[in-house]
Amino acid sequence: MSSSNSHSQSQKPSINYGSPCAACKFLRRKCLPDCIFAPHFPADQPKKFEAIHTIYGASNVSKLLNQLSYDERDKAAKSLIYEAEAWQRDPVHGCVGFISILQKRLNELQIELAIARRELSTYIVSEAPQDANAFRRSN
Ligand SMILES: [Zn+2]
Repeated sequence: MSSSNSHSQSQKPSINYGSPCAACKFLRRKCLPDCIFAPHFPADQPKKFEAIHTIYGASNVSKLLNQLSYDERDKAAKSLIYEAEAWQRDPVHGCVGFISILQKRLNELQIELAIARRELSTYIVSEAPQDANAFRRSN
């Protein structure tokens, strides 16, 4: 179903020409060709790795990524980065705070939509009997 069957090609890190990835640079270690972080934490985006290291710890993230297929790793890394940045912005609620705001807004919009639909239905109903009466009168 997924393209994870083509492991031999997709497991190679995308960019690693001697310069360490953001993770290895941050951890001050040599970035090897099979570095688990290199495909997801390019050297030009050091803040992303800093965020997940501060929130989750590099070794926990490494363990987590190692448990996943290559295709899942990218999604997991993006999700961890998003959540880590959310925790940095809001240490109390993390991304749940943002989800709560969106949920509240969704509820407000659903109420507005229900009101708009109700109002619209009064126009449709109020016009229908007039047409019906006009129809009856003509017959
Ligand atoms: Zn690396």
